[in-house]
Amino acid sequence: MSQYMVELQDLHKQFGELEVLKGINMQVKKGEVVVILGPSGSGKSTILRCINRLEEPTSGKIFVEGIEVTDRRTDLNKIRQRVGMVFQQFNLFPHMTALQNVTLAPIKVQKKSKAEAETLGKELLKKVGLEQKINSYPMQLSGGQQQRVAIARALAMKPDVMLFDEVTSALDPELVKEVLDVMRNLAMDGMTMMVVTHEMNFAREVGDRVVLMDGGVIVEENTPDQFFTNPRHERTKKFLNMIK
Ligand code: ADP
Ligand code: MG
Repeated sequence: MSQYMVELQDLHKQFGELEVLKGINMQVKKGEVVVILGPSGSGKSTILRCINRLEEPTSGKIFVEGIEVTDRRTDLNKIRQRVGMVFQQFNLFPHMTALQNVTLAPIKVQKKSKAEAETLGKELLKKVGLEQKINSYPMQLSGGQQQRVAIARALAMKPDVMLFDEVTSALDPELVKEVLDVMRNLAMDGMTMMVVTHEMNFAREVGDRVVLMDGGVIVEENTPDQFFTNPRHERTKKFLNMIK
């Protein structure tokens, strides 16, 4: 049993010959915001994708709220309802309105009534600042608005932890803030979050902990304050110099 919201034990992932994760250990407590930094190709997305089993780990164990995700007897649909995920590409259904995108899974997967799902959906779209846009189609929305719909859609399953994979990387610079603000509010509401991002200000201000990945291993794990002002490792200093 694990008392953590998410726990990774010696997680390994290989794609053929390529070892992408070389033994990752991580614990995320309830309400914690862990920011994962690192160069492209270091394995950040693979970690998040293993947690809800979009990727099959090669070895190691993953627990979500004490339930072993990597046990083949575990019902993956149950786990995926507890773990919300938002990607760089919003992947909204183009032929559905914002509200329909948000209510689809609660109706289809959780068998909620349309009325109940819509009440929740409207509440969530309001929470992400889109109460005026519930009947808009994705193509009528800006990238930042679409990404906020995607966040509302993930929240509609009432997840206990949210995974964010570079959710602002595809956005025009002026649209980044509105999405980060939604994430910041979510963190303040107590949501447990694992956030892969290149937004250093977000990491510093919202993260409870920063993890630096490189080459499939965790190089440094630290408080944001220490990480940015007094890093322990040479590799971290190099990384911080590179992004300055
Ligand atoms: P990051 O998110 O840190 O940029 P990823 O986790 O996406 O890194 O990828 C880590 C490494 O794994 C990269 O070298 C990438 O090319 C490789 N990789 C990711 N997914 C696959 C896949 N489905 N098949 C083969 N190689 C993959
Ligand atoms: Mg990635």
